[in-house]
Amino acid sequence: MTRYQVAIVGGGPVGIALAVELGQRGVTCALVERHRDVGRIPKGQNLQHRTLEHFYFWHCVDELRAARLMPKDHPIAGASAYGSLSSDYLHLGRPMRDTRLGEFSINDFFFELNERLPQYRTEEVLRARAAQLPSVTVMFENTAKSIEPEADGVRVNVSSEIWPYEDLVIEADYVVGCDGARSLVRTALGIERHGTDLGDRMVLAVFSSAELYEKLERFGPRSTYRVVNPAKNGAWQFFGVVEVGKTWFYHGPVKPDTTPQEVDYIKSEMEEAAGFPFEVEFEHIGFWNLKIEVADTYGEDRVWIAGDAAHLHPPYGGQGLNNGLEDVTNLGWKLDAVIKGWGGPNLLESYTEERQPVFSQIGEDMIAGGILREREWLKLHSPERDLADFEKAWDDLDRTQTPFEFEPNFEGSSIVVGSAPGAKPGIHSERAFAARPGHHLAPQVLSSGRNVYEELGVGFTLLAFGADDDSVTLIEQSAAEAAVPLKTVRDDQADGRAKFESKLVLVRPDQFVAWANDRCESPDAAKVLLEQVTGH
Ligand SMILES: Cc1cc2nc3c(=O)[nH]c(=O)nc-3n(C[C@H](O)[C@H](O)[C@H](O)COP(=O)(O)OP(=O)(O)OC[C@H]3O[C@@H](n4cnc5c(N)ncnc54)[C@H](O)[C@@H]3O)c2cc1C
Repeated sequence: MTRYQVAIVGGGPVGIALAVELGQRGVTCALVERHRDVGRIPKGQNLQHRTLEHFYFWHCVDELRAARLMPKDHPIAGASAYGSLSSDYLHLGRPMRDTRLGEFSINDFFFELNERLPQYRTEEVLRARAAQLPSVTVMFENTAKSIEPEADGVRVNVSSEIWPYEDLVIEADYVVGCDGARSLVRTALGIERHGTDLGDRMVLAVFSSAELYEKLERFGPRSTYRVVNPAKNGAWQFFGVVEVGKTWFYHGPVKPDTTPQEVDYIKSEMEEAAGFPFEVEFEHIGFWNLKIEVADTYGEDRVWIAGDAAHLHPPYGGQGLNNGLEDVTNLGWKLDAVIKGWGGPNLLESYTEERQPVFSQIGEDMIAGGILREREWLKLHSPERDLADFEKAWDDLDRTQTPFEFEPNFEGSSIVVGSAPGAKPGIHSERAFAARPGHHLAPQVLSSGRNVYEELGVGFTLLAFGADDDSVTLIEQSAAEAAVPLKTVRDDQADGRAKFESKLVLVRPDQFVAWANDRCESPDAAKVLLEQVTGH
C-alpha cells in the first residue's frame, strides 16, 4: 500500500485545485472522486479577479481564459430591473472590470482580471493541470466510505465504482474533505454548520432560447440579468448567459413542492421575470434551498474540510467557488509547511481562524443580509404608493453596492504580525495599496518592468524597497535558521513603490501580507517574527 502525505476526498473544482496547489509544492497526494466526468451544469461562472491570481500561480491562467465560452470581447456585466426585465426601472451595472472609485479601478488592486466561464470548463482546466504533476494521483470512480484517524495519520476506506468493485485503503498523513455539501469528512468529524435559512425553494433551470436573447437587446451585451420582484420577497429571479445568443441558466423562487416535470409552471415563472413570453427548450431542471450554512470549524489535527464541504449558500454574487479556491490557497501552503517541518503547531489551526469568519460574514452580512435588506426595501418603497420616493430609493440602491468595500482579510489572525488592536479576520474593509498586515498584496511594477507578482516566491517573499541591508540580512538569517523558504526582492521606492508605505513587506505564500515595517531591529525581533508567521 502506498502512503501519501495528503488524501483528498472529492474531486470537484476545490479538490482538484488542492491537488494542484499541493502537487506543485511536491506534496504527494491521492485524490478520490466518485465520478469520472465533470457535471455539465453551467454553475460557478463568475470568477473574481483574485481567483484568476490563483490560476496564475497554478500555471494555467491562459488555459482558463482560452476555455471561456462567451466571445472574448463580451463584457462580464450585470443588469438589475425592478418588477421584471421589461420594467422602466433599470440599473445597467458597469462591467466589473470598469468599476471605479475616483481615480482607481478595481483592476488596479489585482494582478489578474476576472473571468466568466461555466464551472465544468474550469474543472477541465484544473484536471489537465493536475495530470501534469507527478506527485498527484487521481482516482476517479472511487468513493470514500469512511475515514479512520490513526496516531500519526488517517486511513480512508474507499470503494471502486467500477467492476469488480474492489475496496481499497488509502493511508495518509492528512486528509482534506473537498466532498461538497453532504461531506462525509465533515460528518465524520461531527462538525455542525449554522446559518440563516431564508425558507425559499429555488429552481435552477438550464435552457436554450435565442428569442430571450433577442428580446433583451435593449440592455446591450450583458452576462447576467437580475429581477428585484416585490412578489418574491427579496429572493432574486436571475438569468445568466452561458453561450451568447443560445444558452442560459435561470434561478428563482418556486412553490415548495415543485417537481422537474412542472415545466409549464417553471416557464411561466421565467416569463413573469422577463415580463414577456419566449420560447424555451429546457436542458436541466434542479432545485436548491435559499439558506446559508457555514461549518463551525474547518477541521482539526489531521482532518480538514474546504469548499462547499465547509460553506454553502445561495449563488448570489458568485461566492462559492471563488471562496473554495481561496480556502485551497490558504490551506495548501500551511499543509506543505507542516509536512516539510517548518510550519509550527498553530499553523493549521489558523486556517479555520482566517477562513471561517470571512465566509461567515459573506454568508450572513452580504448574502442573507442583502436579501433581508432588500425585503425591507421592497416593503418601504413602491412606485404605486409613492413614485418620487421610489425613484430616489431605486437610484440610491444602485449606489450602495461597491466592490471596493468588500475586502476579505486576515488582520488580527494569530499568524499575522502588526495588526491593528482588536482587528479580526473578516470582509469589512477597503481596498488600499498600502501593505497592511493580513491584507491582500496589491500588485506593483518593479524597476525591472516586471510586476512584483511575477517575482513572488513559492514560500515567503521579503520585499525590500529602499530598506537597509542589516534589516534584510536579519530576516534572511532567521528564515534560513528556521528552514523557512524565503525569497528577497530588492528595489527602490520610486515609481509608486512607496505606495506600500513600508520599506519591508513580508508576503505569505498566499500573497497576503504577514508583516510590514521600515526596519527589523534585532536578531531576536527577526526570530520572533518568523516564528509567529509560521505558526510557532
Ligand atoms: C446555480 C449555481 C450557480 C453558481 N454560481 C457560482 C458563481 O458564479 N461563482 C462561484 O464562485 N460559485 C458559484 N456557485 C457555487 C459553486 O458551484 C460551488 O461552490 C462549487 O461547486 C463548490 O465546489 P466543491 O469542489 O467544493 O464541491 P462540489 O462541486 O460539490 O464537488 C464535490 C465533489 O466531491 C465528490 N464526492 C462527494 N463525496 C464523495 C465521496 N465520499 N467520495 C468521493 N467523491 C466524493 C463529488 O462527486 C463531487 O465531484 C454556483 C452554484 C450554483 C448551484
